[in-house]
Amino acid sequence: MAKITDFRIGHGYDVHALSEGLPLVLGGVTIPHDKGFVAHSDGDVAIHAVCDALLGAAALGDIGLHFPDTSADFAGIDSKVLLRRVAALVREKGYEIGNVDCTIRMQSPRLRPYIGSMRAAIALAMGVGDDRVSVKATTTEHLGFEGREEGVSVSAVALIVRARASE
Ligand code: MG
Repeated sequence: MAKITDFRIGHGYDVHALSEGLPLVLGGVTIPHDKGFVAHSDGDVAIHAVCDALLGAAALGDIGLHFPDTSADFAGIDSKVLLRRVAALVREKGYEIGNVDCTIRMQSPRLRPYIGSMRAAIALAMGVGDDRVSVKATTTEHLGFEGREEGVSVSAVALIVRARASE
């Protein structure tokens, strides 16, 4: 029987507010800064967007469905744990992760020194090689909530793939 390569693409988007004096955890990396994320979990907006892209690709709902922010189980949780669980859900459905790509919109600090560590942390949590993970960062030229440093937004896409018998 012929095999069909079944590709699925997913998109994720997340926003978290910044507040003074909180730890900044982004892409699985703690970054020295005077502001961090207000959130139920560690607030890692990049990992949340990647989780939603993977869940979207597998048509498995969204991060809020799997990890409700009303649950004490997820209070302050390391978002890498959530990403590990999401990758497991995707594999349970028979898919392997092709690649993910995300864009962080944040005015400051400059994120370039942390990009390599973020890629490695996200890849490790998903159980794939670093070259399957892309992290990009841009400012918004001081425009919008990201530009005023009130919050950070991240969009992500993910490709997943499985081989199945043709119908
Ligand atoms: Mg979130």
